[in-house]
Amino acid sequence: MSERGDFDTDVLVVGTGPAGATAALALATYGVAVRVVTKWNWLANSPRSHITNQRALEVLRDLGVEADATAVGTPWHLMGDTVFTTSLAGSLAGEEVARMRTWGTGENRIGDYLQGSPCPLLDIPQPYLVKNAAARGADICFNTEYLSHTQDNEAVTSLVRDRLTGRKYHIRSRYLVGADGARSRVVDQLSLPIEGRMGRAATLYTLFRADLTEYVQHRPSVLHWIMAPGAGYGGEIGMGTLRAIRPWTQWIAGWGYDMADGEPDTSAEAVLPKIREMIGDPDVAIEVENVTTWQINQAHATRYSSGRVFCAGDAVHRHPPSSGLGSNTSIQDSFNLMWKLAYVIRGWAAPALLDSYSDERVPVGMQVVARANQSRVEYRPVNEAFRTTGQADPVAAGLARLRDPGPDGVATREAMRCAIDLKNTEFNAQGIELNQRYQSGAIIPDLDAGEEIWRRDKVLYLQATTRPGAKVPHVWLIDGTGRRVSTLDVTGHGRFCLVTGLAGRTWAAAASQLDLPYLRTVIVGAPGSRDPYFDWHRAREMDEAGAILVRPDGYIAWRHTTAADGQQEALELLHSAIGSVLGWPSGRDVRPLARPDPGQGALRTGSPASRLAVTTTSLSRSAWRRCLPGCADCCAAPRPPARTTTGSWPWPT
Ligand SMILES: Cc1cc2nc3c(=O)[nH]c(=O)nc-3n(C[C@H](O)[C@H](O)[C@H](O)COP(=O)(O)OP(=O)(O)OC[C@H]3O[C@@H](n4cnc5c(N)ncnc54)[C@H](O)[C@@H]3O)c2cc1C
Repeated sequence: MSERGDFDTDVLVVGTGPAGATAALALATYGVAVRVVTKWNWLANSPRSHITNQRALEVLRDLGVEADATAVGTPWHLMGDTVFTTSLAGSLAGEEVARMRTWGTGENRIGDYLQGSPCPLLDIPQPYLVKNAAARGADICFNTEYLSHTQDNEAVTSLVRDRLTGRKYHIRSRYLVGADGARSRVVDQLSLPIEGRMGRAATLYTLFRADLTEYVQHRPSVLHWIMAPGAGYGGEIGMGTLRAIRPWTQWIAGWGYDMADGEPDTSAEAVLPKIREMIGDPDVAIEVENVTTWQINQAHATRYSSGRVFCAGDAVHRHPPSSGLGSNTSIQDSFNLMWKLAYVIRGWAAPALLDSYSDERVPVGMQVVARANQSRVEYRPVNEAFRTTGQADPVAAGLARLRDPGPDGVATREAMRCAIDLKNTEFNAQGIELNQRYQSGAIIPDLDAGEEIWRRDKVLYLQATTRPGAKVPHVWLIDGTGRRVSTLDVTGHGRFCLVTGLAGRTWAAAASQLDLPYLRTVIVGAPGSRDPYFDWHRAREMDEAGAILVRPDGYIAWRHTTAADGQQEALELLHSAIGSVLGWPSGRDVRPLARPDPGQGALRTGSPASRLAVTTTSLSRSAWRRCLPGCADCCAAPRPPARTTTGSWPWPT
C-alpha cells in the first residue's frame, strides 16, 4: 500500500460499463488522474445499451465523442417502424397486427425531437467510450476485481485482485466511484439503502446471425414484437422480440420465461426452433452466437454516496431494458458527478458540492426504475387484444377476433389501437428522457417563478425552460462562420457559462471582472453567437438584459430574469451565485487560491494563460499499456513515482 497522504490516482472507478466508461472519459477530459479497474478481460460479452437517447448523445457530444458513437451506431431513420406481428416473414395475409412509429421517427413527433436537441437518437451495440477514455489518459486495468475498501478523511483505500495472477493489492485514491453494475459490490460494501425488488421476472436472450434483410428493409426498425400462435411465450410481456443489432444480419431473439420452472434450456437445439418460428422462415440460415438469461429488477438506492465513495449506473438503479433508459441514465449519472469531482479535486469547489449528486440523481433513478417496469406492465392491453383466454390456442383465437368484421372485431381493433397508443410512453417518451429537474444545493431556485406548470404530458413531451434545475434549452445560434451552433455547444465542456444578451453587458463585465478560469460568457447576439432565428429570444423566458448561469453539465444553476442594477450588483449577485453553487460558505472569495500541494490539482494563478494551468498527480500512460490482458507486472511493479503533470485545461474553449 502506498504511504498515507500519497495517492495512486485521484479517482478510482470500478467498472467499464456505460457509467464507468463515461466517468473515466469525463475525468480524463477534465484532466483529472483516473484509474479504472474492471473484472473481465474486455467489455460486455453481449450487446446491450442499444437505444441511445438524445440526452445521452448530448453528453457524448459535450465530451467530444459523438462522431465515434455515430460511426458505430444504427442511424435514427433505421430505428423506428416497430412491428407487432405473428412472424417476421409474415407469409400469411394479415399477420402483421400493428406497426408503430417509435423513437420519435413518426411524422407527428419528429419535429419535437428535432427542436429539442441538436442530437438524434442512435442504436449503439458497441463499446466506444473506453477507447476514448484511454486515449485521453485514463489508466484502464482489465482482469482486476474490486474486493473491498476502507476510507478515512483524506482517501479511499481499495483492495483489488489481479485475476490473472491472483495477487491482491491496494489502490489509494481521493475518491472511489462504484460503477460495477446491478450486483454492485461497492454498494454492498457501503450498505447503501436499496428499495424495491430484484428478480421480479426473467428473460432469455439469444444472440444470432442471420440475414433477415428481405423481411425488414421495407419497414426498418430495431424492434419487432412477435406474437406467434403456439409459441407460448411466458413472462410479463407475452411476446417474443427480434431485436436488430447490426441491420439486418445480427439479431437478438428474446422471450420471457417463468422463473418458477427453473432455468430454461439454453442449448442451441432448444432455442433454434423458437427463433425459426419467430422469423417464420424454416430455411433461413441461423448461427447462434450465445444464449444468456437475465432478470427483471425493480430497485433503486435512496442514496448514491457515502463519504468519499460514489455509486453510479445500474449499481444504484436496477430495472429492465424497456424504455431503453439504463445505459442512458448511467451515462448521465457519471456526467453529473464527474465535473463536481473534478472541481473539488482542483480546489475550485468545496466538498459540499458533492452532496448534490445524490440529491439530483436519486429522483431520476427512482423515476427511471418505475418507468421501465411500468413499460413492461403496459404490454398487458396489447396481450388482451390479441389473445382470447379460455381457447385451446388463445393467440390464434385472438388474431381471428382481430380480423372479425363484426362488432366483436370492431371492439377488438379499437382495444388494440388504444393499447398501441399507450406504448408511446415507452417508445416516444421524449419527456422522460429530457425533462429532468434538479433540486439541490447546486441549484438556486428562481423563487419568483412559482411552480412549474406542465403544458403537455411530461412523459411524452419535452418542456424546454430556463428555470434553474432544467437543462439549458437547445436552440440554434449562428457562429462566426455563419454555421449553426447549438446553445449546448457554446455552453458546457467542463466550464460554467454565463449566458446573457447584448443588453446584458453588465453581467458580462462582472464575469470578466471575476476572471475565473472555469467561467466563460456567451453574449447572445454578439459575433459568434448571433440569434437571427430569434429562437433564443423566444426560449430564454427572461429579459434580454437578464442572465443564466449554466453548469458544466448543461443544467441551469441560477437565473436573474432582469438587468442587474449596475455592475457592482451584477458582480455581487454573480459571485454569490457561483459561490453558493460550488458549495462555498457565504462570502468566501470564489477565485481559486494558489495552493502549494501539487496533488490537490492546484490552480496556478498568474498570467491569463497560466491561470488555466493545473497540476495533478497521474500515473504514467505506459502503466495502462502494461495493464491490458496478459498484464504481468504493471500492478505488481513498484508504483511509479507520482508524476506531476502541468498542462492547460485540455478542453478547447
Ligand atoms: C439485454 C439488454 C438490453 C439493454 N438495452 C438497453 C437499451 O436499449 N438502452 C439502454 O439505455 N440500456 C439498455 N440496457 C441496460 C444497460 O445495458 C445497463 O443499464 C447499463 O449497462 C448499465 O451500465 P453500468 O455501467 O451501470 O453497469 P454495467 O454495464 O453492468 O457494467 C458494470 C461493470 O462493472 C464491472 N464489475 C462488476 N463487478 C466488478 C468488480 N467486483 N470488480 C471490477 N469490476 C466489476 C463489470 O465488468 C462491468 O464492466 C440493456 C441491458 C440488457 C441486459
